[in-house]
Amino acid sequence: MRALCWVAADELAVREVPDPELRNERDVIVRVRRSATCGGDLPLLAGRHPLLRPGDVLGAEFLGEVVEVGPEVRRHRAGDRVVVGASVACGGCWYCRQGLHSCCDNAHADLPGTDPDRARSDAGCFGRPRAAGGFAGGHAEYVRVPYADVSAFRVPDAVDDDRAVFAADVAPTGWLAAELGAVRPGDVVAIWGAGAVGQLTARAAVLRGAARVLVVDRHEQRLRMAERHSGAEPLDYRRSDVAAELRDRSGGRGPDVCVVAVGTPPARSRTDRFGGQHADRPDALREAVHACRKGGVVVVLGTAGGFVDAFPLGALTERRLTLRGVGRPDLRDVPMLLDRMARDELRTEHLATHRLPLAQGPEGYALFRDRADGCVRAVFTP
Ligand SMILES: [Zn+2]
Repeated sequence: MRALCWVAADELAVREVPDPELRNERDVIVRVRRSATCGGDLPLLAGRHPLLRPGDVLGAEFLGEVVEVGPEVRRHRAGDRVVVGASVACGGCWYCRQGLHSCCDNAHADLPGTDPDRARSDAGCFGRPRAAGGFAGGHAEYVRVPYADVSAFRVPDAVDDDRAVFAADVAPTGWLAAELGAVRPGDVVAIWGAGAVGQLTARAAVLRGAARVLVVDRHEQRLRMAERHSGAEPLDYRRSDVAAELRDRSGGRGPDVCVVAVGTPPARSRTDRFGGQHADRPDALREAVHACRKGGVVVVLGTAGGFVDAFPLGALTERRLTLRGVGRPDLRDVPMLLDRMARDELRTEHLATHRLPLAQGPEGYALFRDRADGCVRAVFTP
């Protein structure tokens, strides 16, 4: 089959690779219909990961049709249209039983050579190197999906592929951010970053009853998108004093919940190796910690690489803030999000600003990486 593979730094290629096969009794094979680029791909694209190998198939977010079913799979049969959660999780370990699928103990083991400062592994993830389980991703014609009863979800007929594909990763990640922020009716929520995850965090906050949701970015088109599709108020940080605006719009206190969804630094702007020192971008995090009201919650989203300098620890303790992190989504919210999509409460198809055949995967990633032509997400069809 054909798949979009990492070849070298800033170089992807569509290559012929072996078809995936059922390896365990709980696997299914999915024929991919849609796959989306992901912000977490950008450090990989730049080659900033010690365990990335040429030929690794990318693609964390995908949707397709079940074509082969392992003997222990109960919930799926051939022909089902499914969206597959980005986190690979067993469903049975202590973490999975708490609903913390992104922390699954079994989906992949710690590897020798993994940076000990990064502590224990989290769950596996599709389309990531061996440090995240080494599961081939969805930028391919077919994918092997382990633990299919846990990680694949049948898509309601009312939800089309272009909308449902985002129930794999960005929609549950945004929902989880709003949940970890404990967003309550009447809250003021500020979000740094109007990319796909930032926009869906904004939408989740609105659906949870936030009185005001503010999105901070500098990309005019993304801000307009957040306003139109999520019900958020745009704040262009090039044109306004963000701290003052946030205070003004929150009764002088600052937002109740601040979410940092700025992702990883632009791939070519840093020479630091992924996992090395100073790989992350702390400016938005610092701003969020300083802006948040006393006793509020700051949530940091996305693929952070390692360490940050000059974290305002004093502000965290003196102002009684809670700091929480989300790397990958859990799986428990996916059915609820698909239902909301079916009811038209949650629309995501506008995030697919570019739809391309998989053969144009390298071009799609170049657009996505450079945010060229207003690209928010490129979506591929094999
Ligand atoms: Zn588990």
